[in-house]
Amino acid sequence: MYELMIRDGFAAAHNLRGYRGRCEHVHGHNYTVEAYFTSEKLDGTGLAVDFNILKKSLKKITDSLDHKYLNKDIPFFRKNNTSAENIAIFVYSGLKKSVKKAKVSKVCIWESEGSMAAYYEKSE
Ligand SMILES: [Zn+2]
Repeated sequence: MYELMIRDGFAAAHNLRGYRGRCEHVHGHNYTVEAYFTSEKLDGTGLAVDFNILKKSLKKITDSLDHKYLNKDIPFFRKNNTSAENIAIFVYSGLKKSVKKAKVSKVCIWESEGSMAAYYEKSE
């Protein structure tokens, strides 16, 4: 099994609804996104998938979030709180739809250098 990881980032504002503390107020993060992919085989060139294909797909998603007020500007977050956990499943679902050449296996959202939430599907 092969595993690939690509990293990108975006800057956005958010606030947590139903939370008591500093994060109930609007504030911003420079989020770092790590997306992991697995592939069982390599192509004739020795690649699982071209990194550029993966990076393009992730970039489309991070561009859609960049410099946005997530709670208001992104329909998904009008219903779902803008926790790092929910941002992780949002990115994961987007990659699952757009990347066909490898299987997205995990998405990590770093809210700060010391705080990360990940989403992955439970393996059978
Ligand atoms: Zn925050």
